[in-house]
Amino acid sequence: MTSHTLNELIAEGVRGRYILVRSDLNVPLDGSTVTDDGRIKASLPVIEKLSDAGARVLVTAHLGRPKGAPEAKYSLKPAVARLAELAPFRVRLAADTVGESAKELAGALEDGDVLVLENVRFDARETSKDDAERGAFADELVALTGDNGAFVDDAFGAVHRKHASVYDVATKLPSYQGDLVHTEVEVLRKLTTETQRPYVVVLGGSKVSDKLAVIDNLLGKADTILVGGGMLFTFLAAVGHKVAGSLLEADQIPVVQDYLKRASDAGTAFVIPTDVVVASRFAADAEHEVVAADAIEDSSFGATGIGLDIGPVSAAAFAEQIKAAKTVFWNGPMGVFEFEAFSDGTRAIAQALTETPAFTVVGGGDSAAAVRTLGFEDSQFGHISTGGGASLEYLEGKDLPGLSVLDR
Ligand code: ADP
Ligand code: MG
Repeated sequence: MTSHTLNELIAEGVRGRYILVRSDLNVPLDGSTVTDDGRIKASLPVIEKLSDAGARVLVTAHLGRPKGAPEAKYSLKPAVARLAELAPFRVRLAADTVGESAKELAGALEDGDVLVLENVRFDARETSKDDAERGAFADELVALTGDNGAFVDDAFGAVHRKHASVYDVATKLPSYQGDLVHTEVEVLRKLTTETQRPYVVVLGGSKVSDKLAVIDNLLGKADTILVGGGMLFTFLAAVGHKVAGSLLEADQIPVVQDYLKRASDAGTAFVIPTDVVVASRFAADAEHEVVAADAIEDSSFGATGIGLDIGPVSAAAFAEQIKAAKTVFWNGPMGVFEFEAFSDGTRAIAQALTETPAFTVVGGGDSAAAVRTLGFEDSQFGHISTGGGASLEYLEGKDLPGLSVLDR
């Protein structure tokens, strides 16, 4: 299956045509100030390419989780103000999504102009489970493009959503992958087909239950899965160790035991830490010490100690595996990296990713935040995925409605 790309659309010619673009402008705000404009900067190139080519660009996007009706605090106004500062083209924001303002401003666009429609989630039909409701909203979006429109999906972070502005519009207009979506898909394809081996996956984060589906799908695909973060304690419990007050999902122990059993037959090796950093309590300034992973209750903190990071021996062993790999996917911090005292494991993994000759991919919101907080540059990694949920669902082997609808 292949999808058409933005470059193909531009080659077809877009001058004077209305092109609907789904962008990811879901930026964090402090009141009306954009605190991280990364997604706006990332969205700019596709909009600019279309504007340069003379298109009349209609941008749709969501911000936050409004409940299907306009709410001032979820207006795209601050995001669009920042876009306008960065943009070499004229950009305006409609006061509504498909109402009078959108129609009037769309009608007044000249070639190369950009109009952002107000938050698509101000309309309850955007996220409706009812195909007809979503379809009706999509019809109104598509109507703004006149009779020669096209659709470009550039919002990778939303491709796992069957929403009107992501999925339904693509069933009604000639549709194309924007550059952000195209890059993500190419990267994820490398992780799932023709993967260069050894393929090492590093999994961490807080809850094992968030990652079960991806672990399941990686059995037999990854050569090695390195286990860190809060989920490592459910793995330790699954092999019979006590974990004191550490994060434990007791109900998932049988599931993890099943994975451990299936893994060796599938040719996938799990590597569980042999040492961990145990703290007296969950706090930045908590007392802490390194103990063997099978003796967590023997720390000075006894049965109340909590494991907040992988230990140095494990971190070094993980780093060796990463450096010997040809492909590495990392999702989930190794410890509570938000506290300096428990960030060493996560830092060691990030460092190893920058030193390995392997193709490296970092996925997950907190993982991406961690590498930046710890002072690494995006350019030190092969790829940092912009869509945590979407990339995990892709690796789980799920159908992503916003991607498959672009296939033809
Ligand atoms: P991502 O967003 O990259 O997918 P997750 O959301 O799964 O990652 O997990 C990130 C969180 O996991 C971080 O906030 C981190 O503090 C937490 N975490 C990591 N190790 C532990 C631990 N040992 N105990 C509790 N929380 C942990
Ligand atoms: Mg997260």
